[in-house]
Amino acid sequence: MTNNNQNAGDQSLLRNLNLSAVLSELRNNKLISRAALAELTGLNKATITRLVRELIDYGFVKEVGLLSTLSTGRPSILLELNPQAGFIIAARLDIDYNAVILTDFSGNIIWRNELAHTPEDGQTLILDNLLSLILAAVDQVEDESRPILGLGLSVPGLVDIDNGTLLFAPNLGWRNFSFRDWLGTHFDLPIYINNEANLAALGESFLGAARDSNYVLYINITSGVGSGIVYNKEILSGVAGIAGEVGHMTIDPHGPQCNCGNLGCWEAFVSAPAVLRRMRNRLKDGESSLITEETLKHFSKHTISKLVEAAEQGDLLSREILKETGEYIGLGLANLINVLNPERVVLGGYLSPAYPLMLEEIKNSVQARALEWAWRGADIVIAHFGSDASLMGAFTTIHDHVLSYPIETLARLGEGEQVERR
Ligand SMILES: [Zn+2]
Repeated sequence: MTNNNQNAGDQSLLRNLNLSAVLSELRNNKLISRAALAELTGLNKATITRLVRELIDYGFVKEVGLLSTLSTGRPSILLELNPQAGFIIAARLDIDYNAVILTDFSGNIIWRNELAHTPEDGQTLILDNLLSLILAAVDQVEDESRPILGLGLSVPGLVDIDNGTLLFAPNLGWRNFSFRDWLGTHFDLPIYINNEANLAALGESFLGAARDSNYVLYINITSGVGSGIVYNKEILSGVAGIAGEVGHMTIDPHGPQCNCGNLGCWEAFVSAPAVLRRMRNRLKDGESSLITEETLKHFSKHTISKLVEAAEQGDLLSREILKETGEYIGLGLANLINVLNPERVVLGGYLSPAYPLMLEEIKNSVQARALEWAWRGADIVIAHFGSDASLMGAFTTIHDHVLSYPIETLARLGEGEQVERR
């Protein structure tokens, strides 16, 4: 590398750092003046003026109203990230459906659609469905002047985040599929892939039920049970990226068989299929309920909603099953709260519609078992985004990427044209 090239490289790095510092303060403070930006970033006022000018020119940032500062008598103009800077697509692959949202740059959902499938439909069809949903999202903004800034994807399994590869999805039976390569052949966009529990934890931390918390344990109860841990707004993913695989903690060595082969894993008691299985067993034993065995035959996230509806209508068996589930959830949660001592616990996933009916049981069960100092500090709340939390997390990863690599984003904004389909 020649000296000139090196200088150019250093300058570009510095420019990226400075722009990113400004954008990060704009995100943290929502509305902020140039003077406050200078103070918070430590950059001089002339530099701030120049950087802000550039961000405004590209439509990344906009001026909004005046803040009257009584002390000096001179009003200053406030700045904010422009919600119309561009669009973000967030997608979710799950075992029984795919969902895609299109948002503005602030995360407001402009369009959403989902398509159902079963794991037996096979990889080709499930991927075709996912692709058609993403293409439909792209079509929504075909005539807009602002670009799509990135595509985030949530998947139900272990992920190599750096390479964008799904390593293993136990409930789909998929192994080693490079989503970044596959999506990269269709879309010229920054692409991020992560595990659904991690993304849901991130989505709730940035935009949902844990916005004001710095240490969050998100419990994701779907067809399995996972968790995401977010500390200082960053996912704690562990050495191999699998931190938070809490579903296979043994809570009863003589309990029911789990998919992993062990007996009495937490997941074997509280996952959505496990809840429905307990219900089915009680019906087989001759107990009566508004829910029939037929309803329980085909598992999907909607089956839990039916159980909740029945409980709300006063169905005693449904109520009992949910109460029991709440106690089991609290049992596992007590262990996790003792180990991690989180500030906030967010409950999400397929069981989301059921939590309001179980929260009392969950809290009682935690308090009966966890150390007092641990449970007193842990606020247990229900996810704000329900089973869409991972989509909001997928949005957040792209939003983050855009703010961390502003030079790349400015180039994209400067093109002023839509995503090219490859
Ligand atoms: Zn297990």
